[in-house]
Amino acid sequence: MTASTETDTTALLSQFAGDPRAAQLAQLMTALNGGDRATDNADIKRQYKKTLERFKSIVKDFKRENRRLREVNNGLLAHSELLAGAVGACPECWGEDRACEFCEGDGGPGAFFPENESFEEFVKPVLRMVRENMSRKRQKQNTETTMTSTTQPPAEYEEQKP
Ligand SMILES: [Zn+2]
Repeated sequence: MTASTETDTTALLSQFAGDPRAAQLAQLMTALNGGDRATDNADIKRQYKKTLERFKSIVKDFKRENRRLREVNNGLLAHSELLAGAVGACPECWGEDRACEFCEGDGGPGAFFPENESFEEFVKPVLRMVRENMSRKRQKQNTETTMTSTTQPPAEYEEQKP
């Protein structure tokens, strides 16, 4: 095992801390480093080869999973950025990080003017649904109250356009 392979593997292992395979991999790595490759003992050589193959297989699994998680993460980041634009929040931290270079922690929803396209796509349908729901409640309430009193209905929900 070369020094760079070991460094790569150690870096990879640190990303999967807590995964039982990481502990197994660390054990295999220790076994490989302690293995005597120059020995004539055929059993030890066979055992070493078997351990090395198992090691390579686990590293391959980890690399595949690492790529998959990176893709998932990139998708989530892109989605988060779109939603931040829709609600006028900081795309970097959503106003949750005082050390944020973009907003210094003041970028919660509504801190910035929403981006038109993502507002239309993500926020408008929700506002429409809330408005319709409130309208139904108000109608139901009006029907009930007009039967018994002249109480005013609750103030109408107003949609704020960006
Ligand atoms: Zn921020």
